[in-house]
Amino acid sequence: MVMNWNIHELTAMRAFSQNLGLQFRHDGLLNPRIDGYASPIDKLQLPDEQLAAIDLENSTFRKRLQDGVCSTLNDRPPATGDDQIYTCGAGMVTFNVDPYGRLQLCQLARRSFFDLQANSFVNGWIGFLSKIRSCSRSKSSACDHCTLLSHCLGCPGASELEHGDPEKPVARFCRLTHVRMQRLLGDIPGHLPDASCCLKQNAI
Ligand code: SF4
Repeated sequence: MVMNWNIHELTAMRAFSQNLGLQFRHDGLLNPRIDGYASPIDKLQLPDEQLAAIDLENSTFRKRLQDGVCSTLNDRPPATGDDQIYTCGAGMVTFNVDPYGRLQLCQLARRSFFDLQANSFVNGWIGFLSKIRSCSRSKSSACDHCTLLSHCLGCPGASELEHGDPEKPVARFCRLTHVRMQRLLGDIPGHLPDASCCLKQNAI
């Protein structure tokens, strides 16, 4: 994790990994603790511009993002009203088990859990996690029609940690998505660099 406290060590950390012949990947997106406590984030999270610049320094990542954006930016279909909340791999290709034997969707989405001390993993995987994954969105927000959705840094798990509601977007991830994409592509039709276009609609 790269943050205000260790940003001065990023170059050295990269070099250290390279010297070991290992790949290096940083992550600058901070989430609250699993009990929801979030107060250090405003001190630790790097400013949006700085974080976007660091993320895009990696030419491979930049190219992959750019290629992906070009193929999806203009063709996001309008929301149908029955979109699933979880569209990532959580509960489909990955899961989380905490130290108390509770099966959860992912490391972030932990509020709903299945007790593996009393039940089998198969029942949790097939029954419990499938049921959560099949939940449809019940609220509308700017995300429903956002052309940046495929590249958004937010996710339902982060929203659950931040707001206790997997459907409520996280403002700082929305802002950072806009800053990053603006930096990558320049002006984006329908969007403003400060994310006010979407934040106003999301009322966050
Ligand atoms: S959080 Fe913001 S950038 Fe992400 S999908 Fe929603 S509106 Fe778009």
